Amino acid sequence: MKFPRVSNIINWAGRRGSLWVLLMVLVLTLLGILVWLAGRYESSLVQGRLERNAAETVTDIRSGLARNLHTFQALQFSERRPESWQQPAAEVLRGHREIMRLEWRSETLELLSFVDTPFRTSVFERLGRDNLLSDVNLTCTTARRLNGAAYSISYFLPQPDGLGMEVFDMCMPIVLAGQLTGYTVATYSLQDILGELVGPQLARGVALSFTEADGTRLALHGAPSRGNRVYVAQQLLDLPGATLVLRMESRLGTPALFPNFLTALVMAMALALLAVLFLLARDMRRRLKVEHDLGEALAFRKAMENSVLTGLRARDLKGRITYVNPAFCKMVGVEAGELLNQSFPSPYWPPELAGIYQERQEIRLAGNSLPREGHESVFMRRDGTRFPVLIMEAPLINAVGKHTGWVSAILDVSEQRRIEELSRASQDRLQATARLAMVGEMASLLSHELNQPLAAISSYATGSLNLLRGEMAAPGRPAEDLAPPLFDDLQLAMGRIAEQAERAGKVIKSVHDFVRRRERVREAVAPRSLLDAVMPLVILQSRKLGVRVVIELAPDCPAVLCDRTMVEQVLLNLSRNGMQAMQGVDDLPSAGLRGKVLTLRIRPAAGHASSRWIEFAVIDCGEGISEKVAEQLFTPFFTTKEEGMGLGLSLCRTVIEQHGGFLAYAAAPPRGTIFSFTLPAAGAPDATAAPQNF
Ligand code: ADP
Repeated sequence: MKFPRVSNIINWAGRRGSLWVLLMVLVLTLLGILVWLAGRYESSLVQGRLERNAAETVTDIRSGLARNLHTFQALQFSERRPESWQQPAAEVLRGHREIMRLEWRSETLELLSFVDTPFRTSVFERLGRDNLLSDVNLTCTTARRLNGAAYSISYFLPQPDGLGMEVFDMCMPIVLAGQLTGYTVATYSLQDILGELVGPQLARGVALSFTEADGTRLALHGAPSRGNRVYVAQQLLDLPGATLVLRMESRLGTPALFPNFLTALVMAMALALLAVLFLLARDMRRRLKVEHDLGEALAFRKAMENSVLTGLRARDLKGRITYVNPAFCKMVGVEAGELLNQSFPSPYWPPELAGIYQERQEIRLAGNSLPREGHESVFMRRDGTRFPVLIMEAPLINAVGKHTGWVSAILDVSEQRRIEELSRASQDRLQATARLAMVGEMASLLSHELNQPLAAISSYATGSLNLLRGEMAAPGRPAEDLAPPLFDDLQLAMGRIAEQAERAGKVIKSVHDFVRRRERVREAVAPRSLLDAVMPLVILQSRKLGVRVVIELAPDCPAVLCDRTMVEQVLLNLSRNGMQAMQGVDDLPSAGLRGKVLTLRIRPAAGHASSRWIEFAVIDCGEGISEKVAEQLFTPFFTTKEEGMGLGLSLCRTVIEQHGGFLAYAAAPPRGTIFSFTLPAAGAPDATAAPQNF
């Protein structure tokens, strides 16, 4: 399992934060553009509609004027006399509020007849019509040239009520049978044209006005619009001889904040989007915090896993390893990559135990519960060494409470086992030492108790010998009473009894000294005299066991510096062990040997300055020492014999080592064992130098 570092998480968080800001900016920009476009679209729709309305208005006005022309023509054709013309002309004016005055003039522009609009007082009342004849003249000249109706440019007529109005004239030539007979002149009010000739549906909700090219307003119909965002459309009203600008202002399209449904919808969606973004950002912030906390927890867990010495391992329900910690990898010496997803047999199972482990795992996978206190097992390192482990397993339950596998804590208990073994061995040694101490006490007691009887034996033997001698020398005693050979034998036996009793006394004293660790007496002893001292007893036993004893003594072997009694005991003990080892052996001929032979060999130690160390060897051709026996050979109280004490060899080694020598053993081909020890030669420069190993 790989876990992200905390610093990485913080980096991601930072990068994610800037991404969020970028996203917000983009969304806001997009929304702004959308709203602006929607507004623009809306404006263009309103503007387009207004342009169309203005164009239709101009068309309306033009067709109204054209219709009026037809009316005037009809009037002229039906009425030939000025007196009768007035009546129908007044009718016409009653039907057309936009016409202020209708005149019939002669071809020289003399006024023949005229009618004023019945809806107001005469518009020329204040200024007088004659003052304006030049305009009429100009218009009629144009009309004659065009051979049709012509219009004058507009002009202002002040009115008696203090106000005024903008009007223009229309002059239409009257042609009868190809002859110009006069003119019809009509004066139009600009404001009333807007009121009368424009369709009411077009005029509704808008302000209509005629302006000059420079924007000066001439006439207005409807309330003028105010404000910044007023839609304006302008159209030219092109009439023969005059041109006017029609301006249409709309309050309809005055855009509020939400000009129409589309923009409102976009705005609502934008607000909803912003709200979602806000919620997302809040959610993300919470998520980031949780991620950060999680990262910290993970880092903490990782540090713990890496620092613990307990191996951790997780398996899924199929037995595949899903997790191992570094301590476990170190314990078994296998990389995590080699362990993950591995099923049975695991690489750290000793092959000889794999079958048992496999069965155990199958029982576990079948859902059987495990002891909480754990169980012991043996694992194998990569180099093949085995080591004991204590495994504690528990079910692995995931976040939703589902059992997904097993997690185990593994302890390497080899060190613990080693300490237990050491403590057991030292316990054994303690017990042995206690027994040795007891034996020492017993030996000390025995030597003390035996001294008296031995001294008595010795003195009785000496006394008996003296008595015998006295008896023999007594005067008058017939010599035949006691045969001289018998007397000699008795004397010899008594002498030996005294000698052995004295020797036993010395042995006991040496043992006593050994046990009490007194300063021992070292003396220069010739090897031959050591042999002589033990040979009678060795020969005695060899006869009993049918063994031939061979002595190999190097000529001119120097004397050794030793406690002779103790060394004699060592020689005796080794010889006895050698002879006993040959006891049950009966296949000597097959090994090329002629009978049971015990060789006692004494020579200067090989490989050394000839006279420094003397080597004593006791060689038998017995059963040899098996590996199992060899392990405990020098352990006190270890014996393979029924009546054995198991103290001989350990005592021998102690004695030899106290002399600075070394006791060793080896197999003696073709069969048997050679026990050898070294003693310092007398007169050697450093007789008690460190033990020598040969
Ligand atoms: P003991 O003689 O009382 O058994 P030792 O300490 O002298 O005690 O010997 C210990 C054991 O070592 C013997 O019981 C015997 O098994 C083994 N051993 C000693 N010497 C020999 C030998 N020369 N050949 C074979 N085994 C021997």
